[in-house]
Amino acid sequence: MSATECTPHLNDLLSYEQAVEQIVAAAQPLTEHRSVPLREALGCVLAEPVISSIDVPGWDYSAMDGYALRAADSAHSGAELPVSQRLPAGVSPEPLEPGTAARIFTGAPIPAGADTVVMQEVCEALDDRVRINTEVQPDSNIRRRGEDIERDSVVIPAGTKLQPQHIGLAATVGCARLSVVRPPKVALLASGDELVTPGEPLEPGKIYNSNLFSATAMLQALGCEVIDMGIVEDTLQATKAALSRAAAQADLVLASGGVSVGEEDHVKPAVEALGSLDLWKIAIRPGKPVAFGTIGGTPFIGSPGNPVSLFVTFILFVRPFLLRMQGRDDWRLQPMTAKADFDWPKPDKRREFHRARLFYDEAGIPWLKMHPSRSSGVLSSMTWANGLIVIPENTPLKRGDDVRFLPFSEILT
Ligand code: AMP
Ligand code: MG
Repeated sequence: MSATECTPHLNDLLSYEQAVEQIVAAAQPLTEHRSVPLREALGCVLAEPVISSIDVPGWDYSAMDGYALRAADSAHSGAELPVSQRLPAGVSPEPLEPGTAARIFTGAPIPAGADTVVMQEVCEALDDRVRINTEVQPDSNIRRRGEDIERDSVVIPAGTKLQPQHIGLAATVGCARLSVVRPPKVALLASGDELVTPGEPLEPGKIYNSNLFSATAMLQALGCEVIDMGIVEDTLQATKAALSRAAAQADLVLASGGVSVGEEDHVKPAVEALGSLDLWKIAIRPGKPVAFGTIGGTPFIGSPGNPVSLFVTFILFVRPFLLRMQGRDDWRLQPMTAKADFDWPKPDKRREFHRARLFYDEAGIPWLKMHPSRSSGVLSSMTWANGLIVIPENTPLKRGDDVRFLPFSEILT
């Protein structure tokens, strides 16, 4: 890349928002759905809403162990009533005879005619009668039919990433299978003659291919299927061959490294030869060019090879693209606010995303410590950090100022 390309005039730069909107607009939501048993649905994205065919609860039921009766039959403390039926959970009751009480247990249906449940702690069992040692109020300790879920209502909307509570709710309304979006297939390739696969010996000049593993892990967390295209040698021919094989199999091709415009960077000319490519200069750091294009109709995203840049590019661009492809609307980053535990007197003209660690002081106030290294090669900073701080463009910061923070716990799932 020439010096002028490295430092383009800021007006030529896209804002992060402009760039991500364009990327997300190009994501075609997958239309193929599959039906999976409830036990296998965790982490999948729901393709069709779950609509309840039943009321939950399906009848009025007792929230307590006690006695079901008509409140009017026990207006004064000390009233005695014959016990006319016994109702454990799971039975179907007879209507309650006037002037009697039903022994009832938590979860059992309220018999027709009863309008209240008195808890057993204030009752005395006397052979086949019960003494009610309290003034009885109507409408106590009863859970009403449909109070939780009404029949025909949408209980989980399409586009939801299924978490344990969704699985439980689907079971509550009796669903045995769910219709989910087919997982996006993402082909991953790492370009660079210096790369060696972990487990193999490291010759002088070589480094381990960490990006393939970082990207695989992030893709798996998003519920994607990963196609490993391996390490691609730094030649135009090998790069073209790998890219076209990748595009033929995948919904998205993701490449790490080789997207600059140096002599050893062949991804750009290879994608241009096979399809089309935009090399975007975005007003963010890190985030040297993000390459976005298509190969035979398959979308392509290329990230710089620096391990931290790969993470940041993934979080800022690849993740929103894949969420949209899965039919999710919640692809926008949702930063939290915390206080800067540092001064930042000389802001950059670009928005910066730095590795930072969130901690809480004794008063429970969230603060952010910044990692001392700004190098995008230092991957140990990513495990020291628990998120990315967003340093706004052109804005000096003082210790105690509010800043935005993207916790990894939110963005790497
Ligand atoms: P590049 O974008 O190809 O110019 O690579 C930038 C830097 O990232 C170089 O120092 C590369 O050695 C390093 N790098 C490239 N690919 C990987 C990878 N797959 N894993 C770890 N480091 C990489
Ligand atoms: Mg390279």
